[in-house]
Amino acid sequence: MTEKNLAQVLREQMKAEGKRFWAGDNISEFITDEIKHKLIDEATEAFELVLDRLLIDRETDPNSQGTARRLAKMYFNEIMSGRYDPAPCATSFPNDSQDRYEGLLVVRSELRSMCSHHHQPVNGVAYIGIIAASKLIGLSKYTRIAQWCARRGTLQEELANDIAREISKATGATDVGVYIQATHGCCENRGIMAHSSLTQTTVLMGAFKNDQSTKKEFFDNIKLQQDFAPR
Ligand SMILES: [Zn+2]
Repeated sequence: MTEKNLAQVLREQMKAEGKRFWAGDNISEFITDEIKHKLIDEATEAFELVLDRLLIDRETDPNSQGTARRLAKMYFNEIMSGRYDPAPCATSFPNDSQDRYEGLLVVRSELRSMCSHHHQPVNGVAYIGIIAASKLIGLSKYTRIAQWCARRGTLQEELANDIAREISKATGATDVGVYIQATHGCCENRGIMAHSSLTQTTVLMGAFKNDQSTKKEFFDNIKLQQDFAPR
């Protein structure tokens, strides 16, 4: 009987524990540095097989030598790193003194993601709005959290939900809005090959959903940011 590879062992473990491991799920509790190295080795072998099946000469084509390992490393360390890395640590600061900030906060974050259907790039920007609750996190942390959610195989609709949930978790805010504008490689490089396809998704929670003036202020803020940095 052939020995099981580590990916197989981990998949069985996750199934047994009822842990979902879809392309957009974070499975960092099962991954250590040592495990990741081993998984990259196994994925390298698998990508070698894919290249062979595509009839690409890995032996004499200098551009294709090492491609399997580059792909394996890219998936684990870059384009899908948000599946394997734990949440970025977002130190929070209390926002409960007399001069606490009670206004709306809107942060614009660049997004680089990948669609889980075709593994094509999704490029865009997320506008994250919150009404500050009892704690605040550093401004760069909003982008770190958004990137961590984006560096997986995602659907834009799911990504907006994931970012809203994680921002709410990190800040304690229940009033959260996320608006994403992105272009999709799967529409630009294949399929309908539409180069101007722009997809917009919105997730509104709490006051962003229920209070018309908060909702309007959020979209007015986005408009101001877009005028400042047009996309
Ligand atoms: Zn796609």
